[in-house]
Amino acid sequence: LQQQFLRAQRMESIGTLAGGIAHDLNNALTPILMSIELLKLNETDPSRLKVLNTIEQSTQRGSNMVRQVLSFARGVEGLQLDLQVEPLLREVEKICNETFLKNIQVQCHIPPDISIVRGDPTQLHQVLINLCVNARDAMPHGGTLKLAAKNVHLDENYAAMNIESKPGDYVRILVEDTGEGMPQDVVERIFEPFFTTKELGKGTGLGLSTTLAIVKSHGGFVRVYSEPGTGTRFHVYLPAYKETSESTADTVPEELPRGK
Ligand code: ADP
Repeated sequence: LQQQFLRAQRMESIGTLAGGIAHDLNNALTPILMSIELLKLNETDPSRLKVLNTIEQSTQRGSNMVRQVLSFARGVEGLQLDLQVEPLLREVEKICNETFLKNIQVQCHIPPDISIVRGDPTQLHQVLINLCVNARDAMPHGGTLKLAAKNVHLDENYAAMNIESKPGDYVRILVEDTGEGMPQDVVERIFEPFFTTKELGKGTGLGLSTTLAIVKSHGGFVRVYSEPGTGTRFHVYLPAYKETSESTADTVPEELPRGK
């Protein structure tokens, strides 16, 4: 437990430090992007235009990474809405079908009686997209991406064996790929901020740490099962929302004044 605490503290300071750098970098990149836009407007020479496009694309990529770091460092304060799981998953399925190569088959199975969850739709969308993008990256030669949802009940025994979980009703969302999988030493580190095995410029290593932070802020947790050469399965557990339970609106702490 002591180790877990130290680890959490370390991650928090990494987040603060990275957030500061990302903020300044963002301020530097914005005028560059605007200037490139201006130069492109007045440029007629095709070879110069090509160079400008290359600069723009690279800067844009940097800017996207910075945005990821910023959203990680800012932490996760989200909306509290009743959410239907089906449209959320269908939207993600649609994006995967539209943007992934055709050698990846996307399957999606949601039973009609799936419970409602409570939280922020944009953040949960982000969680699922992060998992799907990782699944895609793990299947460079194609494969199957499975999305599914299931109502599950976790009893006292399960909760006792899993420190992050409380007994109760959950919606368990599955994101599974038939990709390259991960050895155990990688599995142990995937939720660390900035841990990535992707080549330079391809990954920030923030996808899963952001994912975990969001899921935790929704009262849930994440389980991962992976086997090298076979594939990876992520289970995202979100508490099933019961209309009879007390409203959380009055338990949300007042927002603290923020420093710059
Ligand atoms: P990034 O995608 O930028 O590397 P993440 O935090 O999303 O950052 O993932 C961290 C690492 O976890 C990845 O670099 C990869 O090694 C591993 N990983 C995550 N998802 C999968 C998956 N579905 N299959 C294999 N490896 C994965």
